[in-house]
Amino acid sequence: MSYSRVGAVTGANKGIGLAIVRQLALQYPKSAYNNGPLLIYLTARDRGRGEEALKNIHSDAELKKAKALAADGGLTDVKFHELDIDSTDSIRNFASFLKKEHPQGVDFVINNAGLAMTGFDSNVVKKTLQVNYYGTLEATQDFLPLIRENGRLVNVASMSGHLSKYSDAIRTRFLSAKSVPEVTKLMEDFKAAVAAGNEKQQGWPSAAYAVSKAGIIGMTRVVAEEEKGKGRGVLVNSCCPGYVKTDMTRGGGAKTPDQGAQTPVMLAIGDIGGKAGLFWQNEKVIEW
Ligand code: NDP
Repeated sequence: MSYSRVGAVTGANKGIGLAIVRQLALQYPKSAYNNGPLLIYLTARDRGRGEEALKNIHSDAELKKAKALAADGGLTDVKFHELDIDSTDSIRNFASFLKKEHPQGVDFVINNAGLAMTGFDSNVVKKTLQVNYYGTLEATQDFLPLIRENGRLVNVASMSGHLSKYSDAIRTRFLSAKSVPEVTKLMEDFKAAVAAGNEKQQGWPSAAYAVSKAGIIGMTRVVAEEEKGKGRGVLVNSCCPGYVKTDMTRGGGAKTPDQGAQTPVMLAIGDIGGKAGLFWQNEKVIEW
């Protein structure tokens, strides 16, 4: 089968990532982006969990009823590929696979994978930044060149990355950052402050996850601006899915995963009026 559109979702074996794949299949036929058959790569760091999720997608009653998948006569095909955003090799391996399989480029990537650890100390901060910030950054930098003209890149951040919890000095640094190294320096300064045990005095919240997500929002803004300069029409945005009932929220959460998937899906295949470099929630731009 040949595909007119190709997209990929990270951390898609469960939770919001899996719901994003479902919603893409359901919404693509009526979207502004429909240009013929769509192939989605459902990616996961664990092959077993990814293949199980793919099986679930293929037996999903709602997708069957909507005849969403190519297997049932629909427009969307879903395939599994391994991807661990905590591994440079794994990111490069998937990027070279995409390049080889789809030399014409891919249409969108949704960087959804992330973790939230309990507790707060230097190790938690290091691991959380490693996956959420550095992993998402590396995925962004490696996949962006593969995205073709007028494509999209979406980074799933969080409202917890809102700048209301920072000192004026740190907030100003986040807002005025013009390059990835400036955002990365903020992440490293946070790490050092936690190691020195004085992050509060230096104007940071004692919250690894929140800072990693602020880093994603800041990094997405600067990458989006750099991308605008290339004039390829590629729209790069970050979003919060809302407070969603998944393993991450351990039974909490006001939204279903399908509801949480709405904003990332809109940013990947909806009509967003050419907007880029912004932070979205509930399908609207919100101030950072
Ligand atoms: P889940 O914990 O249910 O799912 C997280 C997904 O990310 C899993 O598929 C997990 O894989 C994957 N993942 C974790 N680490 C890696 C890695 N190194 N490489 C690849 N995949 C990885 O969480 P949610 O579905 O709730 O979260 C999805 C995204 O939404 C996250 O970025 C989260 O921070 C964000 N978010 C969630 C909110 C909520 O209320 N739920 C609120 C705001 C933001 P595995 O199963 O192998 O662990």
